[in-house]
Amino acid sequence: MLNSWLALPYEGAITQLGEDFYDVVTAAEFPQHRLRWRNDALLPILGLTPEAVSDDDFVEAFGHFRGAHPFLALRYHGYQFGHYNPQLGDGRGFLYGQVRGQDGALYDLGTKGSGRTPYSRTADGRLTLKGGLREVLAAEALHRLGVCTSRCLSLIETGEELWRGDEPSPTRSSVMVRMQRSHLRFGTFERLHYLGRADLVRRLLDHVIDTYYGHLPPGGDRDGLFYADLVQRVAELTAHWMAAGFCHGVLNTDNMAITGESFDYGPYAFLSTFDPRFTAAYFDYQGRYCFGNQPAACYWNLEMLQFPLKMVMTASDLAAGLDRFAAHYHHAYETRMAARLGLEAPDAAAIKPLILLTLQLLQRVPVGYNEFFAHLRQGYQGVRGQTFDLTVHLDCSDEQLTLWQEWHDLYLSHLDRHDPDRTAELLQKFNPLTVLGRPTD
Ligand code: AMP
Ligand code: MG
Repeated sequence: MLNSWLALPYEGAITQLGEDFYDVVTAAEFPQHRLRWRNDALLPILGLTPEAVSDDDFVEAFGHFRGAHPFLALRYHGYQFGHYNPQLGDGRGFLYGQVRGQDGALYDLGTKGSGRTPYSRTADGRLTLKGGLREVLAAEALHRLGVCTSRCLSLIETGEELWRGDEPSPTRSSVMVRMQRSHLRFGTFERLHYLGRADLVRRLLDHVIDTYYGHLPPGGDRDGLFYADLVQRVAELTAHWMAAGFCHGVLNTDNMAITGESFDYGPYAFLSTFDPRFTAAYFDYQGRYCFGNQPAACYWNLEMLQFPLKMVMTASDLAAGLDRFAAHYHHAYETRMAARLGLEAPDAAAIKPLILLTLQLLQRVPVGYNEFFAHLRQGYQGVRGQTFDLTVHLDCSDEQLTLWQEWHDLYLSHLDRHDPDRTAELLQKFNPLTVLGRPTD
């Protein structure tokens, strides 16, 4: 029977952009192929029935990389920890193909760990199995927490020994395929600015708007509307990370998707206890991308993106778009935090004092960040006037108990004004019981 992956009608949206945007590469050959993860939840989006796709189909397409289409290592630069780096690009991955989903949207299938490319520099082009599994977990957890994210389609262990400074080595190798709306990054535009190619910025911007911002009205100021929409998407994404207790770890501009999705999970972490200074990447010595700095880091990235965009659009449009970041961020953060507390907040600002007190509580009481929300969901009985007894599970000082009581009173005053069924629904939707993150001591 024909392999479903090889039979998909791939579209060449990137190849149509022209050869300035990629290098055609080949995949590495691996000594072994053991399918470790297949994400059947994604198959219906691509019009496939999971039962009709065998494990061997996955291995043939995404382990041996059989398939007729060219594989494209995408070109990009980026600001890494504040410094411009023109030596980037897909160094261990390529765009396997682009497919139209059942929802009409175009999806990228991109690899990670598929071998060396012209951008590998001195590195091996490989992905460790641990790194691959960590990305699978991050993406699935974030998706479940309501964050707009890439997902992993497959992870195949490939039988090589890898040496890494941050894992006990030798460590096992793997190759992953990631599905997301677009692998085009802020850094894809930044490279064109570096090269002084306003013509290519124009071409790429038209492509991005037509393909990923098709809802914007034609004619008029489409460029300005695009940037304003991107600012909103990124502000909302950042707010959703913050509400999810997620620290991405490496918010360089080559890790910022032009579609405003979250992707590329390396040294990320979910918070154990709430701590704005928590830093996920061991090599982030200054804490540039610590948990609490994520909104500022994303704002800065959007600001840097203005340099290439200014080559083809007006500075005032860009400034006006970026001015809205804080308003979008606060609205999204308050709405999502309210939802995690089981509250609908048409006027999200009304809920602000409760959110602030919740954060204070989470900072001072020894409970895991996501664990706390899972406790709320589990403890909710769907009636008005009920109480929560979280502190019986915890070893609290008198001071902590007083804070708990203060929080509890304020929380109940909000809950009692809400529809209990809707509260139960929200608590379930946004507070998964399976929590990633280091356990609290
Ligand atoms: P990341 O930190 O994963 O976002 O990667 C930053 C840059 O380094 C990108 O250009 C990657 O393609 C490249 N890179 C990371 N790890 C490797 C590796 N093992 N081999 C080749 N290139 C890599
Ligand atoms: Mg990256």
